[in-house]
Amino acid sequence: MEQVQLLIDGTFVDGEDHRWIEVIDPSSEEVMGRAAEASPGDVDRAVEAAQRSFPTWSQTPPSARAAVLRKAAALAGSRLDELARLLTLEQGKPLKEAKGEIRASIDALEYYAEEARRIYGETIPTDQANRRSLVIRQPVGPVAAIGPWNYPVLLLSWKVAPALAAGCTVVAKPPSVTPLAVTRFLACLIEAGLPAGALNVVIGPGPTVGDRLVRHPLIRKVGFTGETRTGKAIMKAAADGMKRISLELGGHCPLLVFPDADAEEAAKAAAYRAFRNMGQICNAVNRVYVHRDIYDRFVEAMVEETRRLRIGRGIDDLDLGPMTTREGLEKTVDHLEEAKAKGARVVYGGHRPAGGSFEKGYFFVPAVLVEVDHSMKVAREETFGPLAPIMTFASFDEAIRLANDTPYGLVAYVFTKDLKTAILAAERLEAGTVGINNVAGGEIPFPYGGWKESGLGVELSHHGLEEYLLIKHIRIEFK
Ligand code: NDP
Repeated sequence: MEQVQLLIDGTFVDGEDHRWIEVIDPSSEEVMGRAAEASPGDVDRAVEAAQRSFPTWSQTPPSARAAVLRKAAALAGSRLDELARLLTLEQGKPLKEAKGEIRASIDALEYYAEEARRIYGETIPTDQANRRSLVIRQPVGPVAAIGPWNYPVLLLSWKVAPALAAGCTVVAKPPSVTPLAVTRFLACLIEAGLPAGALNVVIGPGPTVGDRLVRHPLIRKVGFTGETRTGKAIMKAAADGMKRISLELGGHCPLLVFPDADAEEAAKAAAYRAFRNMGQICNAVNRVYVHRDIYDRFVEAMVEETRRLRIGRGIDDLDLGPMTTREGLEKTVDHLEEAKAKGARVVYGGHRPAGGSFEKGYFFVPAVLVEVDHSMKVAREETFGPLAPIMTFASFDEAIRLANDTPYGLVAYVFTKDLKTAILAAERLEAGTVGINNVAGGEIPFPYGGWKESGLGVELSHHGLEEYLLIKHIRIEFK
């Protein structure tokens, strides 16, 4: 049985109410661990510790802040196998993907260690000979960092690393579903020499523990990844204190395949990005639009690619594991059944895999759907599961209109060999990221953020650091 405690003011402790959250292995539905649950008093103590630590950490020289981040990265690297195994057991993803997530989280620590020394200011010329104007950037204060269960380590590292690099102190709240690997990962920062209180971890349900954290008057900024609905609740809760917020929210990402594209190559990419991590990715391909001239070839290739995906327990390290939660599986089935009732046809998958090893666990064979339209949930709401609805288009304008017909604006993908089509589509798609002839996910050097109801602000890159800094103008006058 794996176990993690809360981290408050540099010490690992049980919650004051001695309550525990059970963690389920989604491949067996059995309890595999537990996490201490924070009380409202625990949340307050964590925030107060972050506030007390702020003057020290924010005034620690940038190179010393960077050294702590780098040392934590090295420690996490030395524990990569153990952290990845824990992540696989609680979240379900194949071991190689869990290793990839830990490596990318280490990369975030290393990248922002470098950026800590590049928090530049500027001087702006004035018209008065006896005045000078300096602009400096300063850390915003104690930060609440809240993340979801699909990439629990990575998505908190994308907040904690830039916040600490900027000189902010942090109270992190991992998701209740998968709190184990991320808490162990964050513990590396404490071992690396972070002063007591500079990083705290509180675990517990979002609507109570998360809400109290967001509303705490000493919290100056909230960095959040999760559902759009939760993001809106956080935005409202943060409004009272006029807190800074950055929100990475849900998506409903289109993939457009133009007639000159290589249908097989596009289908391979679509199957990978629709079904990776069982579709539990904000930038998953949620809708595919294929030009009618190559539609049949594309559908055939997509079915072939999907058929190739091997399903098993995460520790068996095949292509796909189980879904992470029973609720997620039920929502996927609900979207599929609603689409079928409205006339969609399933050309592959959409059921529990056969065999004794799949009797328990949240396993599901990814589904490819055709004859889909925008009245169906699968084409409008984020399933957060492995469904790939394929639709057709006849012209460039129609493709763009259909792709933009969503309240979301996270990522859009385009497959074409024509430069004009690629550039015009990239410009007209309403999304924070557009992938042309690739379906790569968020990478640390490049900005990542949602348009429309997919979010506010950006993460990653030097732009992501700005989210944790305030601008100050210093006007100097001399005689
Ligand atoms: P949720 O919004 O349910 O939860 C995210 C986190 O917020 C959890 O830690 C949760 O706590 C906490 N939380 C819930 N309610 C509140 C509240 N009222 N106040 C403060 N904190 C709260 O999202 P999921 O965990 O279900 O994650 C899936 C979602 O995340 C999908 O919509 C997906 O698209 C989105 N996502 C977006 C990404 C992006 O970069 N744009 C990347 C990855 C995912 P707890 O779970 O413990 O109750």
